[in-house]
Amino acid sequence: MTKHYLNYVNGEWKDSDESIEIFNPATGESLGTVPAMSHEDVDEVYAAAKKAFPAWRALSYVERAKYLEKAADILYRDAEEIGSTLSKEIAKGLKSAVGEVVRTAEIVDYTAKVGVTLNGEVMEGGDFDPASRNKIAIVRHEPVGLVLAISPFNYPVNLAGSKIAPALMGGNVVAFKPPTQGSISGLLLAKAFAESGLPAGVFNTITGRGRVIGDYIVEHPAVNFINFTGSTAVGKNIGKLAGMRPIMLELGGKDAAIVLEDADLDLAAKNIVAGAFGYSGQRCTAVKRVLVMDSVADELIAKIMDGVKQLKVGMPETSADITPLINTRSADYVQGLIEEAEEKGAQALTEFKREGNLIHPMVFDKVTTDMRLAWEEPFGPVLPIIRVDSVDQAVEIANKSEYGLQSSVFTRNVQRAFGIAEKLEVGTVHINNKTQRGPDNFPFLGVKGSGAGVQGVKYSIMAMTKVKSTVLNIQ
Ligand code: NAD
Repeated sequence: MTKHYLNYVNGEWKDSDESIEIFNPATGESLGTVPAMSHEDVDEVYAAAKKAFPAWRALSYVERAKYLEKAADILYRDAEEIGSTLSKEIAKGLKSAVGEVVRTAEIVDYTAKVGVTLNGEVMEGGDFDPASRNKIAIVRHEPVGLVLAISPFNYPVNLAGSKIAPALMGGNVVAFKPPTQGSISGLLLAKAFAESGLPAGVFNTITGRGRVIGDYIVEHPAVNFINFTGSTAVGKNIGKLAGMRPIMLELGGKDAAIVLEDADLDLAAKNIVAGAFGYSGQRCTAVKRVLVMDSVADELIAKIMDGVKQLKVGMPETSADITPLINTRSADYVQGLIEEAEEKGAQALTEFKREGNLIHPMVFDKVTTDMRLAWEEPFGPVLPIIRVDSVDQAVEIANKSEYGLQSSVFTRNVQRAFGIAEKLEVGTVHINNKTQRGPDNFPFLGVKGSGAGVQGVKYSIMAMTKVKSTVLNIQ
């Protein structure tokens, strides 16, 4: 008998008429079932949240922080249990999966601590215009209302916590929709918020089939803010459906690691291998292409290959770095990119090996810009290396991407690195490190096809509030 999990709605665990079975992508074993909500179920979630909003927004930051601190404690306590389920549900290495839950606890706790320090401000009109000396603006941050938080399969817990906690801290009520593959872990995360004693309706969950409720949950007029992490295709659709409502989109990427001739090549290679192959490349901020100066390419590649040979390939419960991809569609897609690159003359430095959804790490040298691998996001363990002759060429190729999440620059010349960082059309540039999210107080954002809005604890709280200015006119 597989276990049936329930949604958390209006302070109670609630079932739906239909359900979805969740399978372990590595073994095909059934992990349990979750409710497949109908439109009416969603209406009920939103009505409960709306009802809870006035009392929740009336609380102080200090009062709201107490619930988040409690939820964080529960997440620390249950990290092994949630992490073990997460590992099975998305085929993520067990250690990384437990680490994801611990990091979520840290974010929730830190969000509570930052939230209590936030204030509005008072501004004087006379600072701009002497004739307005009698005007004083009282600027407050008000909650937006109901936040719909949607997380992707690769970090279904962490990218939920980093939306839910700041939304709640800002005085909003939340409906959280985990990805289908990640629903069980999402509902286990919900248990922590439920047990924290949050008033009924303040935090709720939605599970269901994309084709039944996908657009419905977004279009619904009850929703005031959509906070989404996932693919650029779905993000664009959400952008259209959102209309005039504010959104936060964290989408796909094609992060480049630019390696200059004066780089510490050991450092660069180590970071490139870890950045490209962590969780089998299924990370938005994975290193998804290397742009290396031809003069140091051979040396860098030899070092990268030393690192790739150390990678362990296997099942999630082992300490493997490379585990099966999330589904057959993803593995087929990665294979298609690999085959096209080989046909067009890229030089494979590893042998293609696939067992089911498990693809062994692939590295390609001499990738050229007519190959899909130069531009598309594989979301799998394949690293294209593009040789360049100048910094200008590297920057040009880096910027030609439809995406603009992050880039790395490896050089011993920090001034030069800053100059290149200025030119790169991305949200974040890492000098002498791999592309990555965090520490979580830093801003995190994508430009172009990689997203809209800025996350990062303080930024996330602010993003999910709206400024209200009340002007006093002294007589
Ligand atoms: P996805 O877009 O397929 O799904 C993301 C979420 O959206 C899931 O919860 C899914 O159920 C839901 N969804 C699907 N259709 C929907 C619809 N019509 N309306 C509302 N919700 C819908 O993405 P994925 O495969 O889960 O995740 C991988 C993608 O996410 C990659 O492109 C990756 O780069 C991106 N990602 C970005 C970041 C970032 O911070 N920039 C972080 C992690 C992942």
